[in-house]
Amino acid sequence: ASDTASDESIMNTNEEATLCKLDAVRLGYWDDPFLSQMIHGTLRHERKAPDMYKGYYARVKCVERLVLNFIQTIKTSKGVEASVQIVNLGAGYDTLYWRLKSNAALNNAVKIKVVDLDLLPVISKKSHAIRTHKKLCDLLTGEVRDGEIPHAELHSEGYDLVSADMRDTDEISRKLVSACKLDPNIPTLFIAECVLIYMSTDSTKKLLTWIAQTFRTCAFINYEQVRMNDHFGEIMFEALKAQGCLLADADACETLEMHENRFVRAGWTRAQAGDMNTMCQSLPQTDIQRVDRIAMIDEPEVLQQLFAHYCIVWAYKGADSTGLGNIQL
Ligand code: SAM
Repeated sequence: ASDTASDESIMNTNEEATLCKLDAVRLGYWDDPFLSQMIHGTLRHERKAPDMYKGYYARVKCVERLVLNFIQTIKTSKGVEASVQIVNLGAGYDTLYWRLKSNAALNNAVKIKVVDLDLLPVISKKSHAIRTHKKLCDLLTGEVRDGEIPHAELHSEGYDLVSADMRDTDEISRKLVSACKLDPNIPTLFIAECVLIYMSTDSTKKLLTWIAQTFRTCAFINYEQVRMNDHFGEIMFEALKAQGCLLADADACETLEMHENRFVRAGWTRAQAGDMNTMCQSLPQTDIQRVDRIAMIDEPEVLQQLFAHYCIVWAYKGADSTGLGNIQL
């Protein structure tokens, strides 16, 4: 596939994802006091079926569990000196920095730096939201200064917001290493939530290779579609194509093994992938029961199908002593 899909339709997927997450938060699926500040209150979209909200719940909670696991593992191996970097690729309006920052116990134990990276129009709107909402602004620390692109990019002690096209590894390198001053020797976690599907297989390979070659100890959480070659998957794939923003080749995400191999071939030590039916088993079952009481799922087998078509890949690169190899899906 060539990289010619419209950036505008790709960026629209962020507003739609944020509106869905916001609905789910308002309905009580999970708590996020920061999300409503990120998006313009007047944007409207269709209310979704409970399956969709449960899908967002599983995605947010499973990613969050692995992020906390990564931080805890580095803390255990490095002790009081522990410091981590987290790069949210195609971050959209994700609130990870604020959710982590408002967890005082975590911040007292580990030094955390978060970088949100996305295309410029998304970064500009996120920057405006951060600068104009006290609840978001108050959690930035140290001097807050403009980046290379004033009023859009920003840098602070523990949080950076930068624009870059992930298809261009030179630009990614310049922004992460030169502008955000990420240290290649500090353990670094990369997150891509519903993002790599919008890149060609070749661009993803270049990006994963660059990360593995640049950072001494690193991990990756990728949330993406899988099994796009069966009947249900083909319907999903066609729907994505119809939105005009799909670039990945269908065969890049056919099986869990292909998802894992993509990382190993790009120089990562090990990768494990699990579909969302499997991933949900590691969430607290009492919380899943609570969520199941919010709205009746009409056809549980359809939800199961949906969850079989999304997966999380956990990949890491580094020595055994980091403990990253012990993190289980
Ligand atoms: N990760 C966020 C989340 O889960 O809420 C946003 C997901 S949204 C479906 C996809 C995001 O990836 C959009 O914000 C889009 O702008 C970003 N994106 C897609 N291709 C990109 C690229 N080549 N470079 C940078 N960002 C990209």
